[in-house]
Amino acid sequence: MTEKWNITLRVSRQKTNEPHHFDEYKMEVNPDEYVLDAVERVWAFMDRTLCYRHACHHSTCGACGMRINGVEKLTCITPIRAVTSDGATLKVEPLRNFPVVSDLAVDMGSLYRNMEAIGARAVQPVTEAEIENPPSTWNKDQSEYTRLSDCLECGLCISACPVALTNADYLGPAPLAAAQDINLQRKPELLSLVDCEDGVWRCHNAFECTAVCPSFVDPGRRIMNLRGQVISLKFRSLFGKA
Ligand code: SF4
Repeated sequence: MTEKWNITLRVSRQKTNEPHHFDEYKMEVNPDEYVLDAVERVWAFMDRTLCYRHACHHSTCGACGMRINGVEKLTCITPIRAVTSDGATLKVEPLRNFPVVSDLAVDMGSLYRNMEAIGARAVQPVTEAEIENPPSTWNKDQSEYTRLSDCLECGLCISACPVALTNADYLGPAPLAAAQDINLQRKPELLSLVDCEDGVWRCHNAFECTAVCPSFVDPGRRIMNLRGQVISLKFRSLFGKA
């Protein structure tokens, strides 16, 4: 027989020009369902004004990131059983450190812009002619087309990051993790972007990013690794070996 729990979903609500508040929705769930299923049940059967982001439902798109009881999670792979208990309340809030568009949906633009700035483009624009006849540079400099493929660009790391909370100009864990994969020696403009006060040196080694990353990117370790690369390049240039 399917196990049933009664839970209360306490959902953060915020519309333009309206004060922030929480709405509560009582529901019966199978504890092996996922948190996203419970959020969707609210929208489908209780409140059609609830706004949230989702797409693939299998942890590939990174769209359904939210704070569950204060901790960043991909809601499509977070079983209800893992974050609450029968008769208890489950608090659902939008990611931090991004502007709220509506309720649980945030504007992820700053993450995409920073990924683009460091050269890890989510989409590489090409023309039809280039596909027919690939330019020679495609073979010469593959780093131009490299991106950190494990990163879902879900933004959980940015939301959990205590530095991003206090400094909107910080490049952030995911972009810095992606920069670690790019050959800095061949990209002086990238080196100056990460080697500055809003780049690798702003990180406080809290490793909150690594703790919440659902894709084992381990951005904290990658940022430390990137620091090592920057220091090594500086030493090399000091001794004329760059
Ligand atoms: S590094 Fe991890 S937590 Fe950060 S955006 Fe990429 S997948 Fe999400």
